[in-house]
Amino acid sequence: MRCDSDYHTHPQGHAIRPYTVELLQPWVNRCRERRIESIAFTDHDRYHEGIDFDIIDRLREVNPDLEILIGIELDNDPVTSKAGLNWVEANWDRLDFVLGSVHYFPSAEKMFDGADQAQQLLDKGIELAFEEYREQLGIVIGRGNIDCLSHLDLVKIHALIPDSYDPAAFFTPVLDRIRSAGLALEINTAGWRKKIGEQYPSEPILQAALNLGIPITISSDAHSYVQVGEDYDKLGLLADRLGLQKPTRYWRHQRRR
Ligand SMILES: [Zn+2]
Ligand SMILES: [Zn+2]
Repeated sequence: MRCDSDYHTHPQGHAIRPYTVELLQPWVNRCRERRIESIAFTDHDRYHEGIDFDIIDRLREVNPDLEILIGIELDNDPVTSKAGLNWVEANWDRLDFVLGSVHYFPSAEKMFDGADQAQQLLDKGIELAFEEYREQLGIVIGRGNIDCLSHLDLVKIHALIPDSYDPAAFFTPVLDRIRSAGLALEINTAGWRKKIGEQYPSEPILQAALNLGIPITISSDAHSYVQVGEDYDKLGLLADRLGLQKPTRYWRHQRRR
């Protein structure tokens, strides 16, 4: 498959860095270098104050050859996600694409996916951690205001996996909800850069999603412009194995082929 879109990127990284054309232009340049035709900026909802729709309009004007989507990654942060959700609701019509994701176990203070956070799973017990993670996904889906689920099996990030874990069976109830809610699912190459050394989600989950007819987007989860389209050669091979012919694209929350 030709991997020509990247629908999960973080120009602000992990801070509020207000959008400017200077901040965003290197990301667009990187797309051109890597033959990516459509990019979605999806900063974390806790940094929504940095997002500037007028800057996106300006960026579109000076880069008419590329499709630039403005989006956000809305998670389950116990402190900030309420405000994030309100912001998404208020700006829904100006946004193109909203990702939904789970980075927190219930009432945890820190995201579990930090490199130093494996202990969160060990303290809780790995099986319970997986159960709680899946429950949180259900909450994010039920809350609405999203188009696509991010890194569906992120809970595997530290390579701590329950003994009896069957990825497709474990996530099928979530896939069923994704399908009935009319949402998409992303393939995210960031997992190849983590301890688990595998894209999100795993191949059996992707196969199950495709069998259910769930649309698939592709993404790098880049936190720097140099990571745009990272590992897309590998991703192309994976898509070929799965029989996936084209990544799904969006515009103003509508799916386009
Ligand atoms: Zn995320
Ligand atoms: Zn992300």
